[in-house]
Amino acid sequence: MDYNIQAILKQLEYRARDCLRKNYSFSDEAIESAIDSTFDSMKTPIMRLFKEFTFEAAHRLPNVPAEHKCSRLHGHSFVVKISVDGEVGETTGWVMDFGEIKVAFKPILERLDHYYLNDIPGLENPTSENLARWIWKELIATLPQLSEIEIRETCTSGCIYRGD
Ligand SMILES: [Zn+2]
Repeated sequence: MDYNIQAILKQLEYRARDCLRKNYSFSDEAIESAIDSTFDSMKTPIMRLFKEFTFEAAHRLPNVPAEHKCSRLHGHSFVVKISVDGEVGETTGWVMDFGEIKVAFKPILERLDHYYLNDIPGLENPTSENLARWIWKELIATLPQLSEIEIRETCTSGCIYRGD
């Protein structure tokens, strides 16, 4: 991969000066490993892979005013878009098999599809935001390359979560 050494050095110099200015102190090892990982990440192309799933579920939002329409029981056709980041394998030519994402998400999907979300522990207030965080927590152990979860509860409304 071709990269601009001058630009990298400039960037490192800028960061170093910034650290000095703020009186941060770093060990030699920490500085070396930061530089190594900067170069490594520039050598290896990272690509984002995603797969979309849909499920139907009912919910109501318990913490909105009674007159808010979302306080009433209703349902959505939810769309969940799961993204992973990774290197493209030299022989495989892919980050991972789409099927792996499907296998990892299947047990979680089965707990959501055609259920009343408020009944699920951790989803007592099932907003899109809380749903994204809940799915992240359930999925990260089996899909450590997870980089983003997008939830759409209608065609025009949703949220994107990239972890804390
Ligand atoms: Zn809703």
